[in-house]
Amino acid sequence: MIGVYDYIVVGSGAGGATLANELSAAGKRVLVLEKGREMRPGSESKAYSVIKSEVEIWLAECLGGTTTVSMGNAVRSNLGKRLAPFFDEAEGELGVTPMPIEKMGPISRQMLDLSGEWVLMPKCIDFSKCKSCGSCAYGCPHGAKWSSRRYIAKAESRGCKVATGTQVKKLVLKSGRACGVELADGKTCNSQGVVLAAGAIETPRILIRSGIEAGDGLFADTFITVGGLKERSFFNREVGMPFYLMRDGYLISPHYSSLLQAQLHSKGIACSPGEIVGFMVKIRDEPSGKVTDSKVVKWCTPKDIEILKKGRSEAKGLLLKLGVNEETLVESHIRGVHPGGTCHDLVRSIEEPYTDFEGLFISDASIIPGAFGLPPILTIIACAKRASSVILGMN
Ligand SMILES: Cc1cc2nc3c(=O)[nH]c(=O)nc-3n(C[C@H](O)[C@H](O)[C@H](O)COP(=O)(O)OP(=O)(O)OC[C@H]3O[C@@H](n4cnc5c(N)ncnc54)[C@H](O)[C@@H]3O)c2cc1C
Repeated sequence: MIGVYDYIVVGSGAGGATLANELSAAGKRVLVLEKGREMRPGSESKAYSVIKSEVEIWLAECLGGTTTVSMGNAVRSNLGKRLAPFFDEAEGELGVTPMPIEKMGPISRQMLDLSGEWVLMPKCIDFSKCKSCGSCAYGCPHGAKWSSRRYIAKAESRGCKVATGTQVKKLVLKSGRACGVELADGKTCNSQGVVLAAGAIETPRILIRSGIEAGDGLFADTFITVGGLKERSFFNREVGMPFYLMRDGYLISPHYSSLLQAQLHSKGIACSPGEIVGFMVKIRDEPSGKVTDSKVVKWCTPKDIEILKKGRSEAKGLLLKLGVNEETLVESHIRGVHPGGTCHDLVRSIEEPYTDFEGLFISDASIIPGAFGLPPILTIIACAKRASSVILGMN
């Protein structure tokens, strides 16, 4: 880690890995500091961190961050006009393709037939390698799903240094300028600039510990999974979320959740994972949460509850049409796996991630101004690509 660096990038997830790759490609000397360890592909679910709150937040802390456990969904958002070329570039690099119908499992196909309005999910999965094992959210064991570890590997081949198991505590600020970071063990690393990309929960904490106010406006794309029993369906072994239905304020998509088994057991219904089918209902939640140095508070507003109610009712209707027995209908507790928004007011805009501190940039889900209720990885990558062109003065 000792060396002379132009930029320190904190975090190796969607935002951090993209920046590391882009800045290294431009010949910059880059050091990535990553709190988590490098995991064996397919074992990244061991790196899950589950944050308790009314809306439970899930993320992964390892090399590649939360991208390693994503469902492989890669959807564009309509944020920021100047992001368009970067979305194009990102889609090409990630090999984004609509979910092929022939790779869908039999239950997903039955679900598709229930309505003509579905949109095939754009996936960053190489379907020539995909074994349709349904393990995306545990980490892909077949090297088929894209994760930001690919950008990290590219960056390393360009001379970027990566230190895993290295937690950043706070910034080193001198006369209003970011010139390095202090690690949890008290050591410091110096650089000409710092990019914070530790995600929407940890980036604001690094700022708070550095004496900068941050952490308000947390959204999570709050969701539940509604499910029930369908014997010998083996839906748990199908590619998850192969298509979605967009409604006003919420999205519905086929989704297996292991949490439903416990719900069924508590109703006195014994079952195995292969008998459970379900739909995710994901809402564009209001930014009701807050991150502090020691706590995350995220709840559902009355409007969120109302929209969840509508989505739940629609999901139940679809499950009944699929032949699920009404008495077996259950739902998971409320979760959020797209935390964002907690630093959006600290940057000039999502397209210009400057802060009030010279040399300090933020480029991760924390700068997204509000929930858009869709998978955010592609947007975070497009923003990070745009950020690197801003940093390199090419805007
Ligand atoms: C189960 C699941 C499925 C998902 N599926 C999808 C999907 O299909 N499509 C999609 O678009 N999105 C999906 N998401 C969400 C998506 O993965 C995240 O929104 C995205 O990865 C966030 O990017 P980020 O750069 O903000 O943070 P992250 O990718 O979380 O990266 C942050 C990194 O910073 C590191 N870090 C944290 N604190 C420190 C510190 N103090 N010092 C050093 N390093 C630190 C972390 O360990 C982590 O590696 C999913 C999330 C989950 C949990």
